[in-house]
Amino acid sequence: MESDVHQISHGVYPVRYFLDRSQRILIGYLTGYTALMQEDTIFMKIIRREVPADIVYEDDDTIAFLDIKPIRIGHTLVVPKKISRNIFDMDDDTAAAFIKTIKKVARAVKETVRADGINIGINNERAAGQIVFHAHAHIIPRFLDDGLKVWGRGKDYSQGEAITISEKIRERIKQDADT
Ligand code: AMP
Repeated sequence: MESDVHQISHGVYPVRYFLDRSQRILIGYLTGYTALMQEDTIFMKIIRREVPADIVYEDDDTIAFLDIKPIRIGHTLVVPKKISRNIFDMDDDTAAAFIKTIKKVARAVKETVRADGINIGINNERAAGQIVFHAHAHIIPRFLDDGLKVWGRGKDYSQGEAITISEKIRERIKQDADT
């Protein structure tokens, strides 16, 4: 019996080591590949002036240019220059610079096209409509009764559902703050 255990532990260890090692290589490869992909997005090409764009604002940390397929005339994209895929991996300094430029550009677009309002939208991940995987915000001019539906209609929570989900989100925020 003892020798069985001995044999098994000898037999399994190299396999597990091999798996760990190849997983690490795979993760390393994917991380490197993702970084390369992110250097190569259309927005990085615009930042590097390899692709033309109608740039309306630029500073050390951010750039803003017209969306090539505007939902409304004046639809502008604000892009942090430091690469992040979206809001989930963006550092706080970049987020601060990002929101500062969003405010500046949103005001200017509103005044320029005499919009009644502005939608500011950030698509995070494919399920949320993200196509370009370099963080960006859409600044979209809106006019009263312009008929553009951004989201469908909301629905009511069922009994107790709001309490349960808000408790879980609070807990998650607390956990994230502790780590
Ligand atoms: P999203 O779905 O949030 O990833 O949106 C990406 C946006 O980038 C879309 O609205 C595109 O029209 C816009 N876009 C893609 N290529 C360019 C480009 N070369 N210049 C300006 N906007 C672009």
